[in-house]
Amino acid sequence: MTGAAWSIIPRMKPKIPWLPHEVQPGQPTETCPRCGAKKLMPWTLRRDPQRVTLLRTWVCTACQTTEERDEAEG
Ligand SMILES: [Zn+2]
Repeated sequence: MTGAAWSIIPRMKPKIPWLPHEVQPGQPTETCPRCGAKKLMPWTLRRDPQRVTLLRTWVCTACQTTEERDEAEG
């Protein structure tokens, strides 16, 4: 396959449009490592093509800190 053929594959650029400001009902929360509020909740899930594991982005609704963690499947 030539290099040109690869160039038609669109680049998937993850873009986070907004960050939640409140913990959604039913979400488990953990203590935020940055501000100490117990408002760190699991948020978006994505699969890194370079890795086998799923990545879960956690977000603190108090200070908007985000943190990525491996997410176990199943
Ligand atoms: Zn925080």
